[in-house]
Amino acid sequence: MAKEVLVRTAAYYSREGDGVRCRLCPHSCRLMPGQTGLCRVRECRNGELVTLSYGSVSSIALDPIEKKPLYHFCPGSTVLSLGTFGCNLRCQYCQNWHISQRVGKAQILSPESVAELALEYRQERCIGAAFTYNEPTIWFEFIWDAVQHIKAAGLAAVLVTNGYMSAEPWRELLSFIDAVNVDVKGWSDEFYRQVCGGKLQPVLDNVETARQLCHVELTYLIVPGHNDDDDSIRGFARWVGQRLGRTTPVHFSRFFPSYDLALEPTPISTMERARSLAQEWLDYVYLGNVSIPGAADTRCAKCGTLLIQRGPAYHLRIRADEKRCPACGEEVPWVCQ
Ligand code: SF4
Repeated sequence: MAKEVLVRTAAYYSREGDGVRCRLCPHSCRLMPGQTGLCRVRECRNGELVTLSYGSVSSIALDPIEKKPLYHFCPGSTVLSLGTFGCNLRCQYCQNWHISQRVGKAQILSPESVAELALEYRQERCIGAAFTYNEPTIWFEFIWDAVQHIKAAGLAAVLVTNGYMSAEPWRELLSFIDAVNVDVKGWSDEFYRQVCGGKLQPVLDNVETARQLCHVELTYLIVPGHNDDDDSIRGFARWVGQRLGRTTPVHFSRFFPSYDLALEPTPISTMERARSLAQEWLDYVYLGNVSIPGAADTRCAKCGTLLIQRGPAYHLRIRADEKRCPACGEEVPWVCQ
């Protein structure tokens, strides 16, 4: 890796007078010369929009795929995980604020070297690369280039995202992506606006598009007093069950105080209640950031046979490429590369 800043012409913008309008995400920032967008990594320079984070890597690691979290995509595998700086949302409770809400020192990686690195980890069951840690939307140009190499190498490409991207680039990028985990922040526009600085509907539209193009799992971080009421949990679960299907994996994640939101952690009783409410509409509801036995296990939706045990001990009880419950023959909805 080299240490330098790469500036590239950005995708999805148009010129407006002396400035530009970025069209990559629903914020649609209008920028005059020298101004950067809300995401901090796209700037109007010499009459064009440039990205300041091309190849700029803040964090890189080989992670279990379940850590994304993706529980129904190549279970038991690992994935080369990387991210840059910046974000197009402003979640007051961001867990990764040190890279999402400021721009720091980075290493530069070429798009082809992402695939090369992932291939070096084949012995560790690495299936490809995941763009994660901060918001991949704003890394669009680099991810686009890297994904071409990842696919050419026969590897998988994964996004862990807030889904807050304009419809056209979302559809174009997702056509090369194998699996996505979309973080649905809450179930009201008010919550999105006041706590995250965005809007709910573009995210839901993108989740439905993603469902047509690749494997989809959803995360919903439960913030006490903000998005944890029964109506929100029910509304979210019903929407997922009806629009995406009841076999869509959903991960309720426990809030811990972080960044600007000094609240107590989500009570365990709230987590369990959310799971119980959502199970009316969904077959695979998981709890994350909790130490409740079985909360992350995968059981057959029909007969309850344990298929994957997660937690301190990870145990895949059937082969990942087996698609049926060994006890009752029910189809197990997961994807293997
Ligand atoms: S990607 Fe960044 S610059 Fe572009 S519209 Fe979104 S926040 Fe604004």
